[in-house]
Amino acid sequence: MVKIYEIKARSVIHKTKIPGADWGVNYYRGCTHGCIYCYLKFLCRWRKQKEKWGEFVDVKINAPGLVAKESKDKEGTAILCTGGDAYQPIDKEYQLTRKVLQNLNPNLKLSILTKSNLITRDIDLFKRFKNIKLGLTITTLDENIKKVFEPFSPSSHARLEALKKLKQEGFYTYVFVGPILPYLTDLEEIFREVSPFVNHLSFEDLNLNPCRKEVFEAIKKNFPELEDKYKNLSKEFWFEKQKEIKELGKRFNKPIRIYFKHTGSLKFK
Ligand code: SF4
Repeated sequence: MVKIYEIKARSVIHKTKIPGADWGVNYYRGCTHGCIYCYLKFLCRWRKQKEKWGEFVDVKINAPGLVAKESKDKEGTAILCTGGDAYQPIDKEYQLTRKVLQNLNPNLKLSILTKSNLITRDIDLFKRFKNIKLGLTITTLDENIKKVFEPFSPSSHARLEALKKLKQEGFYTYVFVGPILPYLTDLEEIFREVSPFVNHLSFEDLNLNPCRKEVFEAIKKNFPELEDKYKNLSKEFWFEKQKEIKELGKRFNKPIRIYFKHTGSLKFK
């Protein structure tokens, strides 16, 4: 059972270190897509309530007014929504993302990354922005694997359809393959299926630090044959993945961006 809290925020735009962005617009805290590898679980620490990640959403209902005021004089690139997915199911009801888009300074460069095909609802408002990049996360095109790692998000194929539609509308689109799920993400298949509909592909490695327990439980339960491989993930594995991505980028003639932050610093065992 998901708990919804309507709250009033003091501010919704903040500086961010997310690559390629200057500003984060933060109006949902929490995300019911419930991905087991989600890096945002740490946001639970700042809440008085005790629900687990995936079981609550704090809705900053005054966000549209604040966005108008706070974005007026901002320059650079803004990214929606840094405390959860901008197009998670609750946005069908609250439509906060639409209202934020209506009020956001259209001179800002805008970047949106989601796991939901609901993004196509707002095509009319994306046209307000001269510089906008729209991304869909796809970590696998195998729906059975998706259900294990991203249980309550739209299907990978629905996301692929959304990419097609956004491309047809003439937007800059990209796919974010992140995190790569070792031995499960089929990079070649993703390149083959998405290349016609994207301007570039981005890749991220799997950071086990915030989700080690959840990932290992999921592997043990659903892919027991991979248990030892996950226990023995090495830097070499990720260096090989980088090589594979670069080769695929050349073969499919697509620009690639690799964000392997954790290779080299993470103890895998
Ligand atoms: S969609 Fe993004 S924010 Fe939401 S649970 Fe998944 S990884 Fe976390």
